[in-house]
Amino acid sequence: MGFSMDDMKLVVVGAAGRMGRTLIRVVAETPGVVLSGAVEREGAAELGSDAGVLAGLEPNGVAVTDDPLPVFVKADGVLDFTVPQATVAFSELTAQARIVHVIGTTGLGPEDEAKIAAAARHAPVIKSGNMSLGVNLLAVLVREAARALDDDFDIEVLEMHHRHKVDAPSGTALLLGKAAAEGRGIDLAQHSVRVRDGHTGAREAGDIGFATMRGGSVVGEHRVLFAGEGEVIELTHKAGDRSIFARGGVKAALWGREKKPGLYSMADVLGLGASA
Ligand code: NAD
Repeated sequence: MGFSMDDMKLVVVGAAGRMGRTLIRVVAETPGVVLSGAVEREGAAELGSDAGVLAGLEPNGVAVTDDPLPVFVKADGVLDFTVPQATVAFSELTAQARIVHVIGTTGLGPEDEAKIAAAARHAPVIKSGNMSLGVNLLAVLVREAARALDDDFDIEVLEMHHRHKVDAPSGTALLLGKAAAEGRGIDLAQHSVRVRDGHTGAREAGDIGFATMRGGSVVGEHRVLFAGEGEVIELTHKAGDRSIFARGGVKAALWGREKKPGLYSMADVLGLGASA
């Protein structure tokens, strides 16, 4: 596909991962963006491979490297769906290079979040536990449902993902829990029940519960239940294909191109006005 000088030059980090390969494909099919670099961890088997071939496309002449800075300084943005430690390191480099950092990595701890917030003082960072349009809309619906219903309705967030997923609950489940807590005007950390095992005692009114399932190749399913006396309301999202997250990531990068430094969410990108 041809590209122009105005195209946004994007680097995919974690290029050999499930999301990395999907991002390379989506960048190739999206007008206005071009792949300018592909980065993997030191020692990865894919170093030196052509990024197009890695993603099942025609060769594109971009070789996978383990040295991010030289590719970052020539790029306009980085698409990052990797691991927390790598994402924190990349955020320092994108801040140095003053380029957009799109972060889809989940499982970030409070210290990681603080370092990313510091990096966002120097460059636009768009971070979300779920980059799909559907889940971000779902978060708005969950927030409104939680606002409308009092704590006679017990809120439970159920999620299922493929067997390779390493963190739990999913970033998306937490995002949905946060939306519910916002709607109720409570702090999620004070009211979340992330694990139940053994004699737990009865459920506390106002808690937001999480349940995790893992198996097979499921890309991602989330269900938020509002369980009251005699009636249950369910709001559900099913991801059929990873390209929904990759398309959201590319959209976020394009949106971030003209933005001032700062930490933004996918809701900002989509104009949904919720903090998701
Ligand atoms: P994966 O394990 O298939 O891919 C991660 C890749 O990152 C691997 O190839 C790994 O080698 C690479 N990596 C690790 N350290 C690196 C480093 N220092 N430098 C460069 N590359 C490095 O995982 P995945 O299924 O693609 O998911 C990646 C992350 O994205 C997870 O945190 C997942 O939860 C998250 N995710 C987010 C969304 C979203 O919409 N926000 C959607 C799907 C997945």
